[in-house]
Amino acid sequence: MAEYDIVVAGGGPAGLQFAREISHRSAHSVAVLERNETLRDNDKSTGGTFHQVVAGYDIPERVIMSSNPGVIFEGPEASERLEIPNYVLDFPAFLAYLGEDAAERGVDVFTGSRVSGPILEDETVAGVVARQNGGVREFYADVVVDATGPAGVLTSELGMWDPEAAQRGIGKEFEVCGSFDRNSMLFRFDHEYAPGGYAWVFPAGDGVFKIGVCWVDDFYERHRRPSGDNIDAYVRRWIESDSRWDVEEIRGVHAGEVASDNSINQRVGDGIVAVGDAVSSLNPMFGEGIRPGMESAEMAADVVLDALRKGNISRRILSAYEDRWNRKRGSRWKIQRIVGELLYDFDASQQNRFVRNVGQLSGEQAARLQRYELTLFDLLSLYPFAPKDITKAPTLLRHIRVG
Ligand SMILES: Cc1cc2nc3c(=O)[nH]c(=O)nc-3n(C[C@H](O)[C@H](O)[C@H](O)COP(=O)(O)OP(=O)(O)OC[C@H]3O[C@@H](n4cnc5c(N)ncnc54)[C@H](O)[C@@H]3O)c2cc1C
Repeated sequence: MAEYDIVVAGGGPAGLQFAREISHRSAHSVAVLERNETLRDNDKSTGGTFHQVVAGYDIPERVIMSSNPGVIFEGPEASERLEIPNYVLDFPAFLAYLGEDAAERGVDVFTGSRVSGPILEDETVAGVVARQNGGVREFYADVVVDATGPAGVLTSELGMWDPEAAQRGIGKEFEVCGSFDRNSMLFRFDHEYAPGGYAWVFPAGDGVFKIGVCWVDDFYERHRRPSGDNIDAYVRRWIESDSRWDVEEIRGVHAGEVASDNSINQRVGDGIVAVGDAVSSLNPMFGEGIRPGMESAEMAADVVLDALRKGNISRRILSAYEDRWNRKRGSRWKIQRIVGELLYDFDASQQNRFVRNVGQLSGEQAARLQRYELTLFDLLSLYPFAPKDITKAPTLLRHIRVG
């Protein structure tokens, strides 16, 4: 048995940032339990992100593969570029850095430690059970944090959200050596290459770039090729399609799933908070999850520190985190879910019109797009209406009402 003030299940960006926040701001004892043998083994993500992460969370240059001045949006026959500066991280190195920084401040990071469930005392979460070194070990804590990503190991067992009911998708990319003649992130909305999703190319430093495809399962079914090619075949088709890049060698493969609901789910319970993808924090429009996951960790850490100061870790006190998330992100995420529901189901003509509309955004609107703060007017100006969309009204209304 081990005892800590806080035990974090999951060592991805959200769990590690939570541990960093606590360790930089207090003397509380913290343990992070990660099922993989090293933090670097969580190698699913492209690592595209923005200054809010790099400057906001003191991310060192050595884990940044490229910094780029713009983002290109493409449809089957349209291409527009916005001045939105961005970064591409070396995701495994980024996680290793977050873990090292937390450990330097006294956090115990246990890898090879798979959390199997919560320990409950009088309906309050009092710790977790973990498999470690072939045995089972109990970790008791005043506060437990679920940061296990889309698995939502504790949140799903405690009924805080239903991962089965969430919209699911997958992504796969190759990290390649070769040449890509743009210094921008590129997103392409085109069912030919990414049915029901998007394809991307991100510069990742000298002679290296990342090229991939993702889709939402429901929309993939509607737009896929009759041959039912797997995602590898789509990535390869995307690689072979274009003279703007030239692939010499595939040096890495990254893949994973994403799960998204309306983000109005429960984020706290007695003795527990959930952060990152364990509680569907990722943005439902573009699937960006690093920034919102770390933001959720920061918000949760504020509230947990306050709860520990008060000696009260009840749901009532911890719900200040849930309120803050829902105020800042929850309602916006509902709207973005609606946009996603339309966007990934657009026909080719709508994809082109959408991209051209993106090209018309002013500098201020582009900045709002980057912050996910588009107004209703902004969104309407982007929307390429087609009569077929009217049949979607019941689904869209459900997204607004749920929760
Ligand atoms: C192909 C792909 C590309 C992506 N590209 C981007 C991108 O460019 N930019 C962006 O912002 N987002 C991107 N995302 C999304 C982003 O990676 C995630 O939203 C983000 O990693 C979520 O962080 P997290 O800490 O909540 O969860 P995760 O990163 O999923 O971390 C959860 C951790 O918990 C561990 N874990 C799981 N179960 C247990 C258990 N039982 N016990 C202990 N540990 C456990 C896992 O091993 C993992 O290390 C991408 C996702 C995919 C799949």
